This record gives sequence, C-alpha cells and structure tokens, in this order.
Amino acid sequence: MGKLSEAQFDAYLKKIRALAEGKLDAMQKDIEVTNVFPEEFYQLGIKNDLYRCSLPSQYGGWDLSELQILKIQEEFSRGPGGMRMHLHYAMDLNWRPLYDYGTEALKKELMPGFQDRSVFTCWAVTEEKGGTGADIQTLAVKDGDDYVMNGEKFLISHTDCCNYAYITCLTNPDGDKDHRLSTFMVPCNSPGYEVTPMPHMMGARGAGHTGLKFTNMRVNKKYLLGKEGQGLEIAIHSLSVSRVHIAASNLGMAQRMLEMSLKRAHDRVTFGKPIIDRQAIRMKIADMATHVHALRTMVYDFAKDYEKDAEGEYIEEKAAMCKLFSIWTTKVVSDEMLEIFGGIGYFEDCEYGPVERMYRDARAMWLEEGTPTVQRITISRQAIKHGGNLEYLD
Ligand SMILES: Cc1cc2nc3c(=O)[nH]c(=O)nc-3n(C[C@H](O)[C@H](O)[C@H](O)COP(=O)(O)OP(=O)(O)OC[C@H]3O[C@@H](n4cnc5c(N)ncnc54)[C@H](O)[C@@H]3O)c2cc1C
Repeated sequence: MGKLSEAQFDAYLKKIRALAEGKLDAMQKDIEVTNVFPEEFYQLGIKNDLYRCSLPSQYGGWDLSELQILKIQEEFSRGPGGMRMHLHYAMDLNWRPLYDYGTEALKKELMPGFQDRSVFTCWAVTEEKGGTGADIQTLAVKDGDDYVMNGEKFLISHTDCCNYAYITCLTNPDGDKDHRLSTFMVPCNSPGYEVTPMPHMMGARGAGHTGLKFTNMRVNKKYLLGKEGQGLEIAIHSLSVSRVHIAASNLGMAQRMLEMSLKRAHDRVTFGKPIIDRQAIRMKIADMATHVHALRTMVYDFAKDYEKDAEGEYIEEKAAMCKLFSIWTTKVVSDEMLEIFGGIGYFEDCEYGPVERMYRDARAMWLEEGTPTVQRITISRQAIKHGGNLEYLD
C-alpha cells in the first residue's frame, strides 16, 4: 500500500474511533468477567490494519510518520484499557527492538510476521527480586554458539498471546554498570521457557499478564539483539519511544473523559439549572481542557523531534516528560470526571460511556513503561545535563 492521502488518513482515524467506542466497548462487557480476549478481537485488529499500520512498508506497513502513529494510538485508546494495552504494544515495542537492533538475517526471518500477528512478542524486564537496570538477576552464560539462561520475570504483559519474548538479562556481571545487560529475542517454545500465573488486575481486563521462568534455557546467539552488553541502551532507547505512546494513550482516554463529562454536565439539571452553568463545574472543565491541550502539545512536539532524529539529544528527556505529564493529566481529568458524574459515575453501564471502567483502566498508566518516580529520575538527570534548557523545532 502506498502513502495515505490526508483524507484517507482522516477517514482511518474516524474508523478506529468508531471501532473503539463501538464494537470494542461492546465486546469488553464479557471480557471484564472472563479476563480473556476472544479470537474476534485479534481478528478485528488484523482486519482494521492495527498490527500493520505502524510498520515500515518493507515489512507490510504504511510508512506513517511518528505523529500519525501517535494519532492512531490516541483514537483506539478511547476504547477498553486492556485492548489499548495490547494495541499500544503492537504498534511499537512489539517490533521496534528487532527492527532497531536485530541482525539483517533475523529481521528478514521475523519482521514480515508482525503485520498479521503471526509474530507477536512480550517485553520481559521486570523482576520480583530486583529493580530494573543494574539490579537485574536473570543470567545468561555463553556456552559455544548458545547462551544458557536461568531466572524469573514477573508482571509481564502479552505472555498469553506471544510467540517470542524480548528478555533483558545479565550477561556481563563484572562489566561496568552500563554494559552488564543484554537483550535476546527468544522463541517461546524454547525448552526451559515457562509461564507462571498471576492474579487478575484492577482494570485493563483481557490483557494477559504472567510471570516467566527460565530453567537452563538454551538461546542461540542469533537471537542476541545488538551487541553483548548493549541491553541497558536497548531498553532505554526502546522505552523512550514507548513512553510517548503511553502519553498518547492517556491523551485519548482524557479527551474522551472530557467529552463525556461535558455531555453529562449539559444534561444534568439541579435546582432548575444544568450543572454546566455552575461556575464550580466550569472551573473543573477548564482544568481538564487545559491539561488535555498541554499534553497534546507535548506529544506533537515530541513527534517532530523524533521524525528529525530518533537519537536526538532531547528525545529521552522529552519522552519521560510526556509520560509524566500524561499521568497528571489523566489523574486530574479522571477525578474531575467522577465528580461531574456524581453517583452514576460509580456504576457500570452508564449511558454516557464507561466512566467507572475508564477510571480503573487508567491506573495502569502509572506503571507501564516506568513509574512517575522513574520518569522524574530520567528527567532530572537530563535537565541537569542540559542546564534546564530544551530545544524546539519550528
Ligand atoms: C499492567 C502492568 C503491565 C506491565 N507490563 C510489563 C511488561 O510487559 N514488561 C515488564 O518488564 N514489566 C511490566 N510491568 C512492570 C512495571 O514496569 C513495573 O510494575 C514498574 O516499573 C514498577 O516496578 P515494580 O512493580 O517492581 O515496583 P517497585 O520497584 O517495587 O517500586 C515501588 C515504588 O518504589 C519506587 N522505587 C523503586 N525503586 C526506586 C528507586 N531506586 N528510587 C526511588 N524510588 C524507587 C517506585 O517508583 C514505586 O513508586 C507491568 C506492570 C503493570 C502494572
């Protein structure tokens, strides 16, 4: 498929919004109980090009700009949180580490599979008994052409529907702190790869989460991404971009929450007046709208920088800022939404939209791709390096 015209792209955005608030919202009612996506969900993703659209054309994609990818993300994030989690991952972290760091041979073998979900991955960094970065304990030891891996991961998304796992592990325990880790893309059918169950989540239902256990798992060196010792760099680079995708997700959610709140505030009459005419409600609307606008501006600004130079000086800092500010936005907007809705906002099946589900779904955003504290650590490190200055493109 060639480049989309502006009109075709706008029509695609509308189609994805209608899908998210229509079929996907309707399907989620059962998923809230079963906590499992039906096959129909994956098929809808394929049919609506959601696995393919963000890929480069050489691998079946549409060669979209980063801004276009983020705009699509915003639209489907108006729908159920678990589906958002799956699709958000599909559009970026699912394929980008292989594309950026895999050997040409591995890319030739696996990259074409992302467009129709015949290749789907999980991203396994977090461990129960350690922190991220230098504190990772899963160990891979070189043995001829293989590495032998032992260790455990937990809280890992998409383990129920993936056939490869990006695993960040220790390969050089005696190296300096920036060169101790490596990243492998491991086939999930490798002997010694085991999935360990975890309980259901507060929200974002349907997106599968488990732990992983590796016992003497042999991984051929062809699955090493980049060089041995490059794992921390791969994680930081891959997560930088993915953090902005979280910010775009928060933007989509917050925008819909604002629109739902406005509609309810127009309809709800107390003491003879719609509550939208009360100054107290208008102050809330002002705060919500301002946060949404500021977040959109930050996300679009990042997209410009990223298109100019994906390795640019301010990418890491601005990406962490986008994610941090997007959490504040969702916090303010989801709280004010509940206040505006009053009692009916606390119940399921609200006629204005899934208020209580969106409130629960949104909390996952605090954790995906790192906590607010982790974003602040990144931002402060970079802000000190840059003397508190950022650059903006015209
Ligand atoms: C829905 C969901 C999906 C997830 N998916 C994945 C996935 O696919 N892959 C994956 O690898 N992980 C995944 N995670 C894990 C997620 O990245 C972590 O939960 C998150 O990074 C926080 O780590 P933790 O849970 O170990 O918290 P902890 O490290 O126990 O942190 C607890 C608190 O302490 C703070 N803290 C920790 N260390 C420090 C420090 N050094 N300095 C200051 N404060 C600190 C944290 O900011 C946090 O507030 C997922 C989590 C959730 C909830």
